[in-house]
Amino acid sequence: MQLFNLKEKTQQVSFAEAVKLGIGHNQGLFFMDKLEPLDNIEELLKLPLVERSGKILRHLIGDEIPTLEDIVKSAFVFPAPLVKADADIYALELFHGPTLAFKDFGARFMARVLSAVRGDGHLTILTATSGDTGAAVADAFYGQPGIDVVVLYPKGKISALQEKLIATLGGNIRAVEVDGTFDECQDLVKQAFDDSQFRAQVGLNSANSINISRLLAQVCYYFEAAAQLTPEQRERLVFSVPCGNFGNITAGLIAKALGLKSRFMISCNANDTVPRYLASGSWDPHATIPTLSNAMDISRPNNWPRVEALVKMQRWQLSDFDCGSLTDDETRASMQALYKKTGYVLEPHAAIAYQVLSDHLKEGETGIFLGTAHPAKFKETVDSTLGIDLPLPKALADRALLPAVKTELKPDYAALKTFMLKELGL
Ligand SMILES: *Cc1c(COP(=O)(O)O)cnc(C)c1O
Repeated sequence: MQLFNLKEKTQQVSFAEAVKLGIGHNQGLFFMDKLEPLDNIEELLKLPLVERSGKILRHLIGDEIPTLEDIVKSAFVFPAPLVKADADIYALELFHGPTLAFKDFGARFMARVLSAVRGDGHLTILTATSGDTGAAVADAFYGQPGIDVVVLYPKGKISALQEKLIATLGGNIRAVEVDGTFDECQDLVKQAFDDSQFRAQVGLNSANSINISRLLAQVCYYFEAAAQLTPEQRERLVFSVPCGNFGNITAGLIAKALGLKSRFMISCNANDTVPRYLASGSWDPHATIPTLSNAMDISRPNNWPRVEALVKMQRWQLSDFDCGSLTDDETRASMQALYKKTGYVLEPHAAIAYQVLSDHLKEGETGIFLGTAHPAKFKETVDSTLGIDLPLPKALADRALLPAVKTELKPDYAALKTFMLKELGL
């Protein structure tokens, strides 16, 4: 597979290199400049998830990773069920993995690919999190040989459950509670990446959401959704994606370019840079606003250049997208209305995708919205909005009882560096 830097076309890398580098020169994203459609999609849709995903990823990546099928088999060990939520509308539930969010698909695939391509070198993943990504990355890399993980999070600013998901694994996963803000955590990561000597010494990688391997893994569940419908329903399919950094929808559009017949809706919260851009043609990010759907509180979505590259490559039009954005009040109203109508429980991110879909679905279409997180992850909001007491899934309830093992540090790069060198035995 050949990938190009979207900012510097002359930087061309293999898939393995792109996974190791993460981002290209001048902060450019790696992306393909052509996509061959899959043939025989109806045949593929008859296969089980793991077997079909192996074929899709092999088609995309080529023969660079000999163990690709084994990687898929050990990464995708939980289902992505399509659950009927309303008339002609289904939820694609992507939250049945170990940390209850769709990020498990991408993070687990990436962890195994990195292990396969790292050669003899030791790698250290350093990542800053405001909650979900850190949990998915920690879980995905747990026990991967030759890879150590350090997760930084702001003390007292992530939920108790999120902290447990990061700090109860042990082994090659270190949880570091920073006495500061999320931005200070991110600054520490930046400083580490700017320290070229340290970076080389520990084999630094950030495993963040712009890594191409995460997107490719996510392509697979769009096909899994279609596979659970009848051929008639598949004829006029619509996906509504709750967007933050626009990685998830990029994966959906790759699936479309591979031949999955569908249209796409962009669903946002009050951080609506893209819907405003599509309406006015001017790119005008506002300051980020905190909302109930906090994983979508992003005003400068870092995967947007990939969406534009795909649209251009496939000769689509930006005007093909329906889009919508909801306030927190509208989000709660949507959760309440669907719960009253059918009993389906939405958390805030899925609620936004559901509502935009419901508002724009046409006669004869089948709609699918992406359920990106388990409602129990947003228990407070869900309970107070719907007047229920949502139980935690058993595996999570058990984890919540374990003691957190963590190190507290000041937001100080020298202290972080000393800590890491000692932990890594360097
Ligand atoms: C990360 C996340 C999103 C946003 O996904 P992007 O790929 O960044 O657009 C939406 N919902 C939940 C629950 C998330 O964790």
